[in-house]
Amino acid sequence: HDHHHDPDCLFCKIIDGKIPSKKVFEDEQVYAFHDIHPWAPVHFLIVPKTHLPSMAQAAPEHAALLGHMMLLAPRLAMEQGCNPYPDGGYRIVVNTGTEGGQEVHHLHMHVIGGPRPWLRG
Ligand code: 5GP
Ligand code: ZN
Repeated sequence: HDHHHDPDCLFCKIIDGKIPSKKVFEDEQVYAFHDIHPWAPVHFLIVPKTHLPSMAQAAPEHAALLGHMMLLAPRLAMEQGCNPYPDGGYRIVVNTGTEGGQEVHHLHMHVIGGPRPWLRG
């Protein structure tokens, strides 16, 4: 795999190990790590190893990569302690562009969930 990196990109530096992170999962195509400011008991990010700024730049050549990321989310969510569907669960969020709440311009999928006993009846 020939991954494109942006030397000024925070997540490229995390992927390269130049900035430390807590790894959740890694393979040839993606790196997943815990969000530094979690919003919920489980909050991690799945990022492509290649520098793609956002979903706005996604093209047909990225279909397999995006499918891989989307299919990893449920598996890693369960491994990280989310409860199973339908009473458990998680949100999969991809902020896109500044007005979409995106602060780091390297595509990332947030997986946010974990036990919320007050919601489970
Ligand atoms: P965005 O707002 O771009 O969708 O989300 C960026 C996310 O990256 C935020 O939830 C933020 O907490 C997380 N983040 C920013 N800097 C770092 C960092 O240095 N390490 C880790 N693990 N997460 C970070
Ligand atoms: Zn990057």
